[in-house]
Amino acid sequence: MILDAFKLTGKTAIVTGAGKGIGRCIATTFAEMGANVVCVARNIDDLEQTAAAIRELGAQALVVVADVTDEEQLKTVVARTLETFSGIDILVNNAGAPGKGWGSIEKVGMARFEDTVRINLTSAYTLSHLCLPALRDSQTPAIVNVSSALSWMVDRNFTAYAAAKAGMNQMTRVMAYELAPHIRVNAVAPGAVDTPATSFITSDQQRRDEAERWIPLRRFGTPQDLANGVLYLASAASSFVSGKVLEIDGGMQALPGSAIQHTLDNLD
Ligand code: NDP
Repeated sequence: MILDAFKLTGKTAIVTGAGKGIGRCIATTFAEMGANVVCVARNIDDLEQTAAAIRELGAQALVVVADVTDEEQLKTVVARTLETFSGIDILVNNAGAPGKGWGSIEKVGMARFEDTVRINLTSAYTLSHLCLPALRDSQTPAIVNVSSALSWMVDRNFTAYAAAKAGMNQMTRVMAYELAPHIRVNAVAPGAVDTPATSFITSDQQRRDEAERWIPLRRFGTPQDLANGVLYLASAASSFVSGKVLEIDGGMQALPGSAIQHTLDNLD
């Protein structure tokens, strides 16, 4: 069966940022496909809700409270995963945010810039590094990074975030080359997705309408739109794909740059 290629039966997946938004949906989608899921974020209540949804689907969940910007806490994530499930097959580096580096270049100095790079890029590198020995022991190892359309779109105030996500794209390609042929490394680059992170737009109908007018598919993405792409890249369905950044953005990349700029200017 072709659909069997999407199954994750018996696999163990670590998903960072699994407390809400896209990460929670990736975690429950993996569970639906049969994976054990390790849910990582800082807020335990959010993580417990994700874990409850996973268990309701008949899969196993492990909650590990950790800040992905702290290497010692990432070591604990790996150790607890191996104690509980004895292996790691899939790593999804999803945790990310514009962070303290959001703002004008005048205002954002080294500390704020580095905060954003640490959340979005350094954390993904470090956790991939720490998971490598276990991934090498897996029969079907895959790393999926969650990047952003802002890795190629240009918007003011996002210098640090855009640089970090563009770095993530290139990190994905270089890691894919270095870790081939055994470990596959890919990324998704979401456009505007309806999550708690974008509620400042989606909760205001006028701002939402204005944003959606400029998305070729005329709507925000859902977390499931992203989770479907991550499932493809994490599963055997994409076994001949590595080093790819998959845009899941409602067609935004097809727009001329001027149209994108118009959208962003109207959201300021
Ligand atoms: P949300 O803010 O809805 O969720 C982010 C998740 O990451 C939360 O569970 C949060 O939990 C966790 N997280 C944030 N910082 C840390 C940290 N330092 N350590 C551990 N966990 C952390 O975001 P989205 O679901 O919208 O975004 C998910 C990914 O998609 C991010 O990488 C984001 O950059 C990317 N993206 C999103 C887009 C969108 O339109 N929504 C567009 C483009 C990219 P907690 O705070 O409890 O730690």
